[in-house]
Amino acid sequence: MEILYKSTRGKEKVRASEAIINGLASDGGLYIPTIIPKIDLSYDELIKFDYRELAMYILKKYLTDFSEEEISYCVNNAYNDKFEREEIAPLVKKGDEYYLELYHGRTLAFKDMALSILPYLMKVACKKLNIKDEIVILTATSGDTGKAALEGFAGIPGFRIIVFYPENGVSHIQKLQMVTQKEENTLVFGIKGNFDDAQSGVKEIFEDKNFNESLKEEGYILSSANSINIGRLIPQIIYYVYSYISMIKKGYISKGEEINVSVPTGNFGNILAGFYAKSMGIPINKLICASNENNVLWEFFNDGSYNKNRDFKVTVSPSMDILVSSNLERLLYNISDEKTVKNMMEDLKRKGEYTLSESMISSLKDFYSSFATDKETYEAVKKIYEKNLYLMDTHTAVAYKAYKDYSETTKDEKKTIIVSTASPFKFNKDICKGLGIDEEIEDFRLIEKLSAYTGVEIPISLKILESSPVVHKLSCSKSEMRESIKKYLRV
Ligand SMILES: *Cc1c(COP(=O)(O)O)cnc(C)c1O
Repeated sequence: MEILYKSTRGKEKVRASEAIINGLASDGGLYIPTIIPKIDLSYDELIKFDYRELAMYILKKYLTDFSEEEISYCVNNAYNDKFEREEIAPLVKKGDEYYLELYHGRTLAFKDMALSILPYLMKVACKKLNIKDEIVILTATSGDTGKAALEGFAGIPGFRIIVFYPENGVSHIQKLQMVTQKEENTLVFGIKGNFDDAQSGVKEIFEDKNFNESLKEEGYILSSANSINIGRLIPQIIYYVYSYISMIKKGYISKGEEINVSVPTGNFGNILAGFYAKSMGIPINKLICASNENNVLWEFFNDGSYNKNRDFKVTVSPSMDILVSSNLERLLYNISDEKTVKNMMEDLKRKGEYTLSESMISSLKDFYSSFATDKETYEAVKKIYEKNLYLMDTHTAVAYKAYKDYSETTKDEKKTIIVSTASPFKFNKDICKGLGIDEEIEDFRLIEKLSAYTGVEIPISLKILESSPVVHKLSCSKSEMRESIKKYLRV
């Protein structure tokens, strides 16, 4: 059965390979699969899979124009010793909590789960579509996507990658990770603004037909590595299925038992993949959408209206500092139709807000939402470390807090997986602050101190960061993004 990908805002329908290369549909909508395939193996069969085998199984269902050989090539190049754990995405139980650790890739955040495979999916897609032009990946980042995309595309022939990050909106370690990327085909810019400025700037460039045509004449095609690309969303479904079968394998649940998942959410990509896993048949009861103080999504799920007209806050979970959650558009389509989505997205652009109808609101029952303030985030980090000697990062702490709110309000006792999205070392200053360790020292010394204090080993990729030279020193304003791209490509 062939699965096509259609736009959330119109009739456009394309094959998986085209959707991956296009990034965004030509009408500005996001691609979504026309059918969500079902899991058709028993738990006994699924349990036998390791991460790569499960990845093969899931990807084959979605990428129906890819051959088995092509998918295997992508999977084997993505999920290998780039990850510091054999299981790729370990599920750990600490105290009464279950954590799905998605941060053992090279850049220490869950973005590696999808961005280590996306370059290979794109490479295969280019070959299929007979594309000879060079692909230029444009990426806006709130900190973690940028590095994961750089690491994914670095040195891959036929690709260039350009990353824009908010100059004052990422952690010191996140910035260092990006500006030390040394391969020739990489370029990194600081943007004078916040993540939404970077993201809307990139989106406008994708929608600028003249600009795209002028690059095309020079042999360049723009594409996206942001989570609007369906090639990022689909690989994320794998770890939800994997976490569920890990729960069975480890004896924490019985086959078919319902669980909840709590996901620290920004652009709504990660949690949406969880929703897809549920739609495929994984018995997920509630998807808990955890926000920080930029709590637009919390308001959305509780009031049925989305309003981005508010102050942007820089929080201790910076990868979630987002006011426009792009992937929510895919969920909106799921509960309405392309015309409604188009209108709502126009409202969002013009007025900064939109409201759902009663019937749409009643279709959101799979979700629960809560949020954590910075203070609550610090408290969660400290509490869990002291109670269970488990060190979690600030984003994960937000998910923990939302889960606690959920279980207190609903009294639901189903086992809940807390999706752990970053290594605590990546946000060492705030982790130390939460734990009450004096954090007023230089980053790398602090990392050593944190490791000595907790006994948690420092990831290898962080150890080498200190001695890596800075190669990217450029910055620009949102209005200069086009010029900067042209200058780099010499067009
Ligand atoms: C990107 C990111 C998130 C948010 O994920 P979305 O898919 O954008 O909702 C949460 N935590 C960390 C550490 C991240 O890097």
